[in-house]
Parts: sequence; C-alpha cells; structure tokens
Amino acid sequence: MNTYSQEKLQLALKHFFGFDEFRLKQLSIIQNVLAGNNVLAIMPTGGGKSICFQLPAMLLPGITIVVSPLIALMKDQVDALLANGIYAAFLNSSQSTDEQRRIMQHAIKGEIKLLYIAPERIPANTQSFIDFLKRLNPSLFAIDEAHCISQWGHDFRPEYLKLSILKNHFPNLPLIALTASADTITQNDIVERLALNEPKVFISSFNRPNIHYFVLPKKNVLVQIEDYIKKHIDDCGIIYALSRVSTQEIAAYLIKAGIKAAHYHAGLDSAERSRVQQAFQKDEYNVIVATIAFGMGIDKSNVRYVIHHDVPKNIEGYYQETGRAGRDGLRSDAILFYSFGDIMKLKRFVTIEGNTAQSAITLKKLQQMQDFCELEACRRQYLMEYFGEPFQAYCGSCDYCLSTLEEKDITIDAQKFLSAVARTNENYGTNYIIDVLRGSASEKINELHKELKTYGIGKHLKKEEWQWIAQQLLQHQYLSKTEDQFPILKLNEKSWKLLKGETELKLISKKEKQTIVALDEPEYDTEIFKLLKDLRQTIALESAVPAYNIVSDDTLVALSTYYPQSFEELRQITGFGDYKVSKYGAAFLNVISNYTQKKKISSRMNLAKPKKEKKEKTTQPVIGSSAYVTLAMYKEGTGIPEIAKERNLSQSTIESHLAQFIASNELKINDFMTEDKLLKILETIKLSGQTIALKPIKDLLSDDYSYGEIRMVLEWLKKNG
Ligand code: ADP
Ligand code: ZN
Repeated sequence: MNTYSQEKLQLALKHFFGFDEFRLKQLSIIQNVLAGNNVLAIMPTGGGKSICFQLPAMLLPGITIVVSPLIALMKDQVDALLANGIYAAFLNSSQSTDEQRRIMQHAIKGEIKLLYIAPERIPANTQSFIDFLKRLNPSLFAIDEAHCISQWGHDFRPEYLKLSILKNHFPNLPLIALTASADTITQNDIVERLALNEPKVFISSFNRPNIHYFVLPKKNVLVQIEDYIKKHIDDCGIIYALSRVSTQEIAAYLIKAGIKAAHYHAGLDSAERSRVQQAFQKDEYNVIVATIAFGMGIDKSNVRYVIHHDVPKNIEGYYQETGRAGRDGLRSDAILFYSFGDIMKLKRFVTIEGNTAQSAITLKKLQQMQDFCELEACRRQYLMEYFGEPFQAYCGSCDYCLSTLEEKDITIDAQKFLSAVARTNENYGTNYIIDVLRGSASEKINELHKELKTYGIGKHLKKEEWQWIAQQLLQHQYLSKTEDQFPILKLNEKSWKLLKGETELKLISKKEKQTIVALDEPEYDTEIFKLLKDLRQTIALESAVPAYNIVSDDTLVALSTYYPQSFEELRQITGFGDYKVSKYGAAFLNVISNYTQKKKISSRMNLAKPKKEKKEKTTQPVIGSSAYVTLAMYKEGTGIPEIAKERNLSQSTIESHLAQFIASNELKINDFMTEDKLLKILETIKLSGQTIALKPIKDLLSDDYSYGEIRMVLEWLKKNG
C-alpha cells in the first residue's frame, strides 16, 4: 500500500482544491482511506466531509463511486468539482435515459473520476448494478449521508439498504461512510448494515465556533425577521417554519417588504422546487422560507443566517438546520424564536398514536428542546453536552454569553429584606418573608404582620427578584438559615452591619439579555470585497455555476486582505487551486491591481503568516493572519490610527490585532497603557467573573476604556494570569 505523508497530501489538497490546511480529522481520514481501510467519518454539517473522499478519488487510479441521496446536493457537488477542473458526473432520475447511457459510457471508458449515484438508481435487480460496477472497476466507494441506511436515524431511506451488498461483491475495496449523525445507535447500525469490516471510526468535534446562537421571545416575529434581514441585506439565509402555509405567508410578507424571498416545501412540484433551489444557489433570492424539506440538498457555503420562525421538534433537527449556516467558516447567526405555545402545538404533533414507547422518546426530545429554549446558561455548552462533548460554561458567542452584566447596588432592598426577617422575629422562611414584603393578602400571613412597617414595602420587585436577593444574601453570608426541612432565616453579625448601614452590598447581575448582536466588524477591506464579489457574480452568470463554486466568500476575504498581484501570489490564497488560478486568475488579478493602483496600496502577501510557524504552535490559538499584517505595519513604526486608516478597518480592530501579540510576548502591555489603567481593568475582569467575553467587562467600565485595551489585558493575562 502506498503511504502518503502529510506534506504530499497537503500539496494535493492545494493543487486540486486550493485549500492550505486540512480541517478537523480530514487528514487522518484520508490517510486511512488511501491505506485501504474502511472508514466511518462523523463530522458536523459543514465540517468538510466531501474532501474526505474527493481527495482520495484524485489520488487513486480509476473511478470513485459516491452514493448520495439528494439530487440537488449531487448536482451542486458535481458543479463544484467541475469548477475545479475535475471530471465528475452523476446518475439520477432527473436525467433522460440517453443522458444516463452517455454518462455510463464515459465512466466505462475511464473518463470520469467521481461518479455520483442516487440510491434509487440502483435497480431492484442488484445483479445488473453489480455487473455495471464491476465493469467500472472502481477504487473506492463513498456513502454520503450514511445514516439514511438506519431506521434509527432521522432520515431512513429504504433504498439505502441495497448498499449492504457492496461489501459482498467488493470485499477488498475501501469504503468510506460519512454522516453528521451523532447518535451511537445509528453509527453502529451503519457499520453493521454496510458490513464494514474493522472500520476506523473518526468523530470530529461538533462545535461550530463561527455560528452564533440566539433564542429570542416570539413577539412581533415577522417585524423582527424583517429588521434582521434588512440589516443584512447583502447576505443570504434560510428561514424555517413548521407548516407549508406559513412558509408561503412569511415569504409573501418579506416580498412585500422588498426582500428577495421565496418559499419552499415538499408540496411544490419538483420543477418548482429545483427552480427555487437553483435560484437560491445563484443568489437570485436572498432568503428561502422553507419547511425542513429544504436543506439536505443545500450545499451553499455562504448561508449567513438560519432563522427558526417556529420551535423545531428536537435538538438534532435544530442543530442540523442551523449547521447549514456558515460552511465557509465565516461568522453566521442561528436565531430561534421561542414561544411556549409552539411547544404545546408540537406536543400533539410528535405524539404517535398507539405507540407509547416511541411517543415517550419524541416527547422527551421535545422537552429537551424546550429546556434549551428556556435555558439560563450558555447555549453552546448545552448543545455540545447534548451531543456528548464536554464544553466550558462560557462560549462568548451565544445570547446568554453576550448578555450585559451590570453592577447593582442592592443595599436598600437587602436592608428591607433583612428588616422583614427581624420584625417577624426570625421565625420564617424565604417565601413568607417575600409575601410580607410584597404585601400579600393571603390568610397565611399573620394578621399582626400585616400591621408591620415592612408589610408591602417590596411591591416594586417581582417575586423572582426577591428570591434572587435572598439567594445572594445567603450566598454572601449576610443571612443564615437553619438546616430544617423548611429552613428558617436567621440574622447574623454581617446582617446587622448591613441593616445599620455600616456596609453596602454591590453585586454583579445580568441585565436584559442581548438581542441579536451585530456582526463583528469585518477584518478586511470591504470596498474591494464588493468589487470582487461583483466580478464573481459576472463569472458565475457567464458560466452558469453558482457564485460560491467559483470561489467561496472566505477566498474573497483573503484577497481583500492581501491584495495578491501575480499568479504566484494568487496561488497562495486559500481556495485557489491550480485549475482556478489558470481559469479565473487573470480576471481577479485585474480587479485587484486596478484597485491597488488607484489606492496606492501594494501587495501584502509578504505579511501572510508563514505556514511553518502555524504548525509548530498547534495548541495555541492560531492568530488570524490579518493580525500579522497589522503587526508588521506596527513594527514598521506606523501608529494605530494610521494603520486603521490605511487598512480600511476600525481602530478597535487594529487594537485587537495587536492584543493577540501580547500573549505571545511579541509586544509589551506597557507600550499601550499606564499601570493604573492595567490595574483597573484587571480588577474589573475579576469582578465580571470570566475572561472570555469582552462586553461584560466593558459594561462595567467607563468610556475611558476601549475594547482594544480590555482585549490587551485579557491577552496579557494568558501569559501572566
Ligand atoms: P459537509 O458535507 O461536511 O457538510 P462540505 O464537504 O460540503 O461539508 O464542506 C463544507 C465547505 O467547507 C465547502 O465549501 C468546502 O469546500 C469547504 N472545505 C472543506 N474542507 C476544507 C478545507 N480543508 N479548507 C477550507 N475549506 C474546506
Ligand atoms: Zn455561550
């Protein structure tokens, strides 16, 4: 067996697909496939499963057979391969018999590297299929969306069962099964049904760091959606709704609001469905409003947001749908509108009559969905732990982690609470005290207590708010309680100090949760980005290929950061493989050089991060290469405001770039702020109780402190904390 070194495979990845690095476990998966092993690869949606069989296909002799369930998905993948100059084709029921025969001829002649086959194309008479395959003499089988073979999976397709014969007839051929299903029963089922002998199993992390999660109350939902889309009018996204009728209604509303939207559901005829899908791929629509029927076939890498107008039935579905955002790795939003009413509706939906066991499972999954929506903690942590991955309690990029912290002086309310405890002779528990404070008319309240001065002085706060205060008092030992089954509150020395006004009580609490947080400031020159995007659109229209298949958004970002000036430089940009450089290179270089000449900017390719360095520090977070451009300019003696101006970026972005080099000791914190400032920020970081998100810290500081400065201190802490 051939062994392929990492270097060799990396060269091949660059040559064929234009990518510089392997993602997740792609490298090991590919090495195993090439070594002839059977592989089960589990990766989240958007993780990059296709490369795991496409790259081996290019390195193995002969043809690779790919089984894939959806026609639209197949077409998209084949288009993407063709755009890279790789001869791929598909066989499915959308083609005429002549067309199919022609493709089969090409395949038999050895002219096709990857042949995609829809499962329904496998004839009932499997022998003729096997004969056909034998004539092709394939090198590799890839079964995409392999969970479709399992009844336990969420998308069982009986035709997939026919695939179990492959291993009987081709016992020595490597087979790779790929899925995003995290469920172990399904995984075992895949291995068994495909008869995978001693498979190597690779499970990648399910975290999608570039997707930001928001759950918002479902109020004025259409207005909220309209608002959001209008703020992101150059982007495209998907809105999921539960019923076919509502997809139509929502789309109609958006169209009336001037948004390029369309609806999609399984009730449309297939011509209309594929028209809508293709128009979306070509960016003719910004928004598709769809039932869950839409999506498995969507491979569009620049979907910037996924909105759930209604609550999904389970976390699996929710995660898969949100996973369709941000496949290109750029920041994207997942927004869910939650109402308890939706849960009630869904309860009826998911209950399967006459099947209590099955209903119990679906209801439990719905309960977990509800828990997620009502969660008062990090959403990402919940999702990761749901899929069996431990995760820290703070992600910094969900609505909870982005909510505002504030310092609250609760001295007066705390005094009221304690005085009620004192005046009822330290004989009662929390709920009774709260009832007294809120002036409850209940008979349970002793008539004498209704005469007290403290009776009813706490009406300005809700019951839960008083509960929170009681909890805080106990937690900070301003109050004690007995160990009884119904604990009684008791005062202590600290309580009296507070009551007498000798101390004050300030606490950190979460303010109203943040709604959808604006996109991060772009890290690249947006002016040229727009020009390049227009160019891409022109090429896409000329060649009838979806724009993101020409080059993806992250490639445009790299071009708008480094301004490459020659074919050689262009080749170093992610997404530009050799074929694309020769096919589209001249057009892109032309736009870039016109722009840079006008603006008197030169190529920044020399500032791109040297690749070797990246690999040595694998445990360190990779410093974004845009930051290296800033560092180099800073070291040349350019000031922060000037760098910002020249790079068309904001000052705080530049500051945050420089901050990253404080952790690596390349820059010194003293160059950026006084000792006093450093100390004050350190103190506030401690107060905020976390070291990940900037906003909670900024909220607690005055305007004299910038985000950039806070970030610098956080980075400094990494080395000195
Ligand atoms: P999946 O099938 O797992 O949902 P895809 O195979 O469609 O994901 O890949 C998602 C996107 O990521 C595609 O646009 C693909 O071109 C891109 N991609 C895959 N691997 C890499 C890589 N190593 N570097 C950069 N982009 C990649
Ligand atoms: Zn979070």
